[in-house]
Amino acid sequence: MNQDIVEMTFRRFLNRGHYRKTPERFTILRRALTMKAHFDVETLHDALESDGYHVSRATVYNTVQLLEKAGILRKNVFAQSTALYELCRDNHIHLVCRRCGRIREVSEPHIEEHMMALETPDFTPENFSITITGLCDKCKC
Ligand SMILES: [Zn+2]
Ligand SMILES: [Zn+2]
Repeated sequence: MNQDIVEMTFRRFLNRGHYRKTPERFTILRRALTMKAHFDVETLHDALESDGYHVSRATVYNTVQLLEKAGILRKNVFAQSTALYELCRDNHIHLVCRRCGRIREVSEPHIEEHMMALETPDFTPENFSITITGLCDKCKC
C-alpha cells in the first residue's frame, strides 16, 4: 500500500466523520503500515514504544478502530486469539490451527473471482478474508 494514498484515505475519512486529525493518529497509521501480517493492538503499542514514541494504549486502540472503519485495516478474530489486524491490501484465506493457533495465509484466485463477482444489491464489496479452521501437520500426529 502506498503510504501517501493511505494517509489521504485516512485524512478524508477523518474529515468526513469530523474526527480530529491528530499527529498521533498518523504516526500510528504509519507504524501500522510497517507491521508484519496479523498484529494485535498490544504489539503495535509495543512497536511504537520501542521507537521511542510514547502514546497511550487507549489512543492506539482508538486509532486502530478508526483505521478499521476507514477500510485500511481489517480485523480478524480467530479462535482463541485476541483481535488481530492486517492491512486490507489483498484477499486471502486464513488457515487456522484450532490446537496451536498457527495462522497461514493462502491465496486462491478462483475463489477470489467468485467472491468479488457476487451480486450484492446496495452494497459494494471491497475485500474479503476467509477463515478455515483445522489442524496443522504438527498437531495432527
Ligand atoms: Zn497446530
Ligand atoms: Zn491475513
